[in-house]
This record gives sequence, C-alpha cells and structure tokens, in this order.
Amino acid sequence: MLEEACEVCGGKVVEKTIDQAFHIKDRRVIISDLPAEVCTQCGYSIVSADVGENLDKFISNLDQTQELKTLQVPIYQYRTI
Ligand SMILES: [Zn+2]
Repeated sequence: MLEEACEVCGGKVVEKTIDQAFHIKDRRVIISDLPAEVCTQCGYSIVSADVGENLDKFISNLDQTQELKTLQVPIYQYRTI
C-alpha cells in the first residue's frame, strides 16, 4: 500500500484501530476498534470510504444495533480542576 502523508501536517500516517466518539441523535456513542489511518504526528484520523459507508449504515440502524456496553462518562468543569 502507498505510504500516505497527513493532509493536515504532512506527518506519517499509519493504519490502526481507534476508539472514536460520535454524536448521533443527541446521544454520544463510542465506536471501538474502528479501522482508521492516523497521523503519528498530530493524531488526525481518517477512515476509508468503505468504513465511512458502514458508519452511515450503522448510524441509520442505530436503534436496531446491539450495543457492546454502555459507559457512564464523567464530565468535569475546567474551572474546578
Ligand atoms: Zn498530521
């Protein structure tokens, strides 16, 4: 496969799986093990067209999809830390 450079910073891009958060219909969901190309320099990530299509399908079928688990995510206010 062709070695690609990051479109943001020109850094080296590697293929790996990431946990990516999405806002879908007022819900925050995290998709784990999402295959993506991630810049080793700035962390910018992109997914392939195939993965993007699967994500679109997932989003439109979200209510029918079995969730792996539900996490409670604590939120902190910056001025209190
Ligand atoms: Zn980059």
